[in-house]
Amino acid sequence: MTYDPANIFAKILKGELPCHKVHEDENALVMMDIFPQSKGHALIIPKVASRNLLDANPATLSSVMPLVQRVAKAVKAATKADGVRLVQFNEAPAGQTVFHLHFHIIPVYEGVALGTHGGGKADDAELAALAKDIAAHL
Ligand code: 5GP
Repeated sequence: MTYDPANIFAKILKGELPCHKVHEDENALVMMDIFPQSKGHALIIPKVASRNLLDANPATLSSVMPLVQRVAKAVKAATKADGVRLVQFNEAPAGQTVFHLHFHIIPVYEGVALGTHGGGKADDAELAALAKDIAAHL
């Protein structure tokens, strides 16, 4: 399997498509998932191109994981969620739909079932407010 540079996250990283940005540094972009499984669902996208975990350079993984932890803490603090899931899919049979490596941070609220993966689109104003709030907790 090869990397397709025309994937949607590559276009977002290049600024060709918009996103609700939480944070950007030299290594990665953090943005809100527009089809969230719960309120505050965020994505961490390393800038170095790889399809997923299977072809990623280990150096990319070690540079991004501290940010994944920071985002998990910031999402939990901003949303007051009871817990947080870290999810990452590799290849379509495993649930991957966008073929540029990314990590999901999905807040979990006690007694509230998660929505389906890639379900309904969230309200843009709500996503913009969440992005700002999570950024303030980073
Ligand atoms: P995967 O299944 O590849 O792990 O997850 C891709 C994620 O990207 C899904 O959760 C989906 O909701 C999200 N997604 C798909 N298209 C877009 C988009 O254009 N913008 C944003 N922000 N998220 C997207």
